[in-house]
Amino acid sequence: MGILSAKLSAVKPSQTKAMTALAASMRAEGKTIITLSQGEPDFKTPDHISRAAIKAIQDGHTKYTAVAGIAPLREAIVRKFQRENGLNFTPDQITVGCGAKQLLFNALVASLDEGDEVIFPTPCWVSYPEMIKLAGGVPVAVETDVKDGFIMQPDALRAAISPKTKWLMLNSPSNPTGAVYSRQNLEELAVILRDYPNIWVLSDDIYEHLVYGETEFCTMVEAAPDLASRTLTVNGVSKSYAMTGWRVGYAGGPIELIKAMNTVQGQSTSHTCSIAQYAALEALDGDQSFIREFRDAFKSRRDLVVGMLNNIPGLKCDIPQGAFYVFVDCQGILGSLTPSGQHLETDMDFAMYLMEEAGVAVVPGSGFLADGFIRISYAASEEELKKACNAIADAASKLSRA
Ligand code: PMP
Ligand code: GLU
Repeated sequence: MGILSAKLSAVKPSQTKAMTALAASMRAEGKTIITLSQGEPDFKTPDHISRAAIKAIQDGHTKYTAVAGIAPLREAIVRKFQRENGLNFTPDQITVGCGAKQLLFNALVASLDEGDEVIFPTPCWVSYPEMIKLAGGVPVAVETDVKDGFIMQPDALRAAISPKTKWLMLNSPSNPTGAVYSRQNLEELAVILRDYPNIWVLSDDIYEHLVYGETEFCTMVEAAPDLASRTLTVNGVSKSYAMTGWRVGYAGGPIELIKAMNTVQGQSTSHTCSIAQYAALEALDGDQSFIREFRDAFKSRRDLVVGMLNNIPGLKCDIPQGAFYVFVDCQGILGSLTPSGQHLETDMDFAMYLMEEAGVAVVPGSGFLADGFIRISYAASEEELKKACNAIADAASKLSRA
């Protein structure tokens, strides 16, 4: 009998992490690899935030904190939700954890019984199905269509609901497609949810500030305030504030769920780093002007990458409306032959070919439950992005039809 539980045997390692680790190990061997496989802003954390962390150390804030996070941070999060989303929480309806990732995990562990179902649109972030399985639940993937801009359609939601459905998980702007749900999209989903009062909504808003098109960011409770009593709104500082390594995410929701999430966290990680919590406090309360600068930079990088990729025969992508990923259809490439005689049959084969031949790390679409695509993160400098796209074009031009 092996050491692994049956539950863990069904869980796949994160593909974003796996491709990034492979890129790092190839670099350690002396190869030049451009890493576009991990959703991580290349910007430095703004100085005033870093200074707040240094001050926290100097002031001796280096001890355990409350499980849900320090009170001033929870108060700042209450203000953030009020100011930016029009949501009203009290500090005891807020909890802070080691990144939005842990909040999602805590919520699922706190709420799922064996066999409970969680609906989410695909393409989806690599971690959703695996976290659901780890928590004992059953992932219910609802495919979205590129012609709908990868937005989940109300009928598709209704068709996926069963007596076992516990959650609908939504992520807008979406990783990996960049789809942004409009207020109207959310209202239409809310109409269905009103027929099923036992289904909760998990709104993953981690890319909130990274919206480039006409559709404004909207979160479920803003669109449907009557769903507040069964919605968990998750957010964090990783993406908008260039703070991925600090590991601070937060959530606001009904007190019963927040308390249960605190129990999960109190029996596992306790809380996120005390110093990082002071940094997050400064991030939320301090100067916000750099967010617009980051966003403008991401937007011009997006346009650059989409333009260059669409010039490569066999690849095509629409202009994503948010986040910092391009989800590229590579079905026109699949089936071709590499110079060494290998058939590129899957998006994984193509991603590995790009790693080896172009020196560019991307993530295969299958990791996001969407075969025939690759995901490219454009959270890198323009110079690197140009180099990467040219290298991809070069590698693609060496392929021949089988
Ligand atoms: N949700 C989505 C959709 C993401 O892409 C990420 C990125 N890691 C997260 C949540 C979690 O972010 P973090 O844990 O760094 O806050
Ligand atoms: N969410 C980012 C990504 O999808 C960071 C890596 C991860 O946590 O998966 O690349």
